[in-house]
Amino acid sequence: MRKGHFERHYRERMGWLRAAVMGANDGIVSTASLVAGVAAAQADKPAVLLAATAGLVAGAMSMAAGEFVSVSSQRDSEQADLARERHELEHDAQAELEELTLIYQGRGLERELARQVADQMTRHDALGAHARDELGLHELQQAQPFQAAWASALTFAMGAGFPLLLAWLLPLRHLSWTVSAGSLLVLAGLGALAARTGGAGYFVGMRRVTFWGAAAMAATAAVGYLFGVAA
Ligand SMILES: [Zn+2]
Repeated sequence: MRKGHFERHYRERMGWLRAAVMGANDGIVSTASLVAGVAAAQADKPAVLLAATAGLVAGAMSMAAGEFVSVSSQRDSEQADLARERHELEHDAQAELEELTLIYQGRGLERELARQVADQMTRHDALGAHARDELGLHELQQAQPFQAAWASALTFAMGAGFPLLLAWLLPLRHLSWTVSAGSLLVLAGLGALAARTGGAGYFVGMRRVTFWGAAAMAATAAVGYLFGVAA
């Protein structure tokens, strides 16, 4: 914990919140759209609930898989960069010291001071200094594939659980409309929360997510309706 003057920056709050809201949004939009589509095809309630439940499980698993794969490859490239840095520090320490000096000079320090700082940083923790100041890798932000996979599967499932609950509680009549309307309300709330926490205005976030959510639900309901008519 840093001492003295301390303010929290939006960026610090953004990491996990952004992932959580994205996951929940995906869950709500995809499951509400499924319900809207299957209900518009005149399916009965068990079929609607089956489709929504299958959508929740499939979506959560694919989010987890996608997140795990992308964060693992991010971690792989971080590890490869660190290994190369370690190698260069072992085999060409002078060039690495010069590189660090130039980085600090580029940040506004005078040559002599930059050299002193680079020298002290190198003696304190050479790899840490290069990882942070050359590669931009911060300990706190190191990729955690399992954590990321779990977080996105959980937030997707929580988001998807809302339209599923509505589909279960509300009558089949007008279900496409009622589940879509209820889901858009929650999406608007999430959009406002994410925008506000990220330092943007409420309406910016609300507008973005409800527009795309409504578009997805309308498109799926139209497809479902066409299938229902054709059947
Ligand atoms: Zn380096």
